[in-house]
Amino acid sequence: MKRRDALTLLGLGSLALAGLPRLGGNTPRKGRVVIVGGGVGGATLAKYLRLLDPGLHVTLVERNPIYIRPYGSTEVLTGHITMKDLDVTYDALHETYGVEVLIDAAVGLDPVKKLLRTAGKKELPYDRLVVSPGIQLDYGAIPGYSAQVAETRIPSGWIPGAQTALLAKQLQAMRPGGLFVLVAPPNPYRCPPGPYERAALVTEWLQRHNPTAKVIVADPKDAFVTDETMLLGWNRLYRYNPPDDYAKKLAAKVEVKRHSEGGPITWIRAKDGGKVKRLEAGSLQIHTEGGVLKADVVNVVPPMKAATLAFDLGLTDAAGWCPVDRRTFKSTKVPDVHVIGDSCIADAMPKSGFSANSQAKVAARAIVEELAGRPVPEPVWENTCYALAGMHYGLFVADVFRLVDGKIARTNGPDRYLPLDASPAQIRLGARYQQAWLRTFTQDVFE
Ligand SMILES: Cc1cc2nc3c(=O)[nH]c(=O)nc-3n(C[C@H](O)[C@H](O)[C@H](O)COP(=O)(O)OP(=O)(O)OC[C@H]3O[C@@H](n4cnc5c(N)ncnc54)[C@H](O)[C@@H]3O)c2cc1C
Repeated sequence: MKRRDALTLLGLGSLALAGLPRLGGNTPRKGRVVIVGGGVGGATLAKYLRLLDPGLHVTLVERNPIYIRPYGSTEVLTGHITMKDLDVTYDALHETYGVEVLIDAAVGLDPVKKLLRTAGKKELPYDRLVVSPGIQLDYGAIPGYSAQVAETRIPSGWIPGAQTALLAKQLQAMRPGGLFVLVAPPNPYRCPPGPYERAALVTEWLQRHNPTAKVIVADPKDAFVTDETMLLGWNRLYRYNPPDDYAKKLAAKVEVKRHSEGGPITWIRAKDGGKVKRLEAGSLQIHTEGGVLKADVVNVVPPMKAATLAFDLGLTDAAGWCPVDRRTFKSTKVPDVHVIGDSCIADAMPKSGFSANSQAKVAARAIVEELAGRPVPEPVWENTCYALAGMHYGLFVADVFRLVDGKIARTNGPDRYLPLDASPAQIRLGARYQQAWLRTFTQDVFE
């Protein structure tokens, strides 16, 4: 789509370039903030900057006119929602909060003149630039995998879009009794419980539509956040027998059934040979350290690093993520640039939408205070990752974070998870909270 068409589609047209309605009437402009990336981090920041200080001029640069939300996108695979349900517009950011929305791709910056350059040949001056470009998927890290294979044969969909739709089609057309393999990523990655929730929802769907089919999670790790509550859910819903060490840990707190015959889902950890060495796209063979899996449908969640733009702007470190001052999320690499969301290094905070939203609110406050010459207050962040072991089986991990010795540290106690002895009603409620969160979260970020 041409840029002019995209602006027209947003109802912005020349208005977007000429200046926009603002909160607070004719409040004088007190600074110019340019934000790149209209995903969770960038959209939250744009909205909350305008709420905190209606005098700020806020421009959001986003390359796509519609945001396809990643959170909740697994439900497309099982037909619970459609691709269309993932679409979010920037209308409210513009119309309600007076954010200038520019549909264009950022390509570079001049840190001395403080200008952001776009593919549409614009040079946007800023007092502060905030970058929240998300992740890129490192397809090439798994031999045999590539962006081209992901688009045509073995989708990932961890950045949702056409690959999500392809995976849904493949799953729904899988032969009776077929094998679905999910290749899990190494740490750190976007949405820590996400791959296991995906495996669970696919298993639940297959039980109903393809009851002899099987699901295998091939994992380069030995553990994951929410593992105990998720594996207990699988035990109850899918006759899953947890590995002995997990079974022992769980049995100390709750009854775990030992099923004489294992169910449809299997988790192969690194220590059991789950790490994938290479893929054969043509034959759908997955070579793991423990042997070869011959699959019918494969979903790969590859290793990740900060989005390409973060590299292009010189914001990344040797590990491929963006180091920041934790109090303000100011880049330690480029002055007057902040990085939030999945791209930044935030220590104990997971790479999640909830975290990106919490970081955006803290960064918005820091920017407003600094531009006004006031001290930045002591930050507090939160994260809750809700996850489903089945559509009516909800669980979560919930944390509060503060600065400890310059790093972001978890400061709540050990009771972070749905209790293992939660009642059936609490578990059902957990699933309701997850669905409610998807709705209210989108409202908080974009509306
Ligand atoms: C299957 C799945 C389930 C998930 N479930 C949850 C959940 O339950 N809870 C939760 O908290 N999180 C969840 N997440 C994670 C969550 O979606 C991400 O952590 C969150 O979107 C990160 O926000 P962000 O702003 O860093 O990046 P994004 O939301 O990805 O936004 C980045 C934006 O930057 C834009 N961009 C990139 N480069 C440029 C450029 N050069 N110029 C202009 N624009 C650019 C992109 O187009 C994109 O719109 C899930 C993710 C997946 C994949």
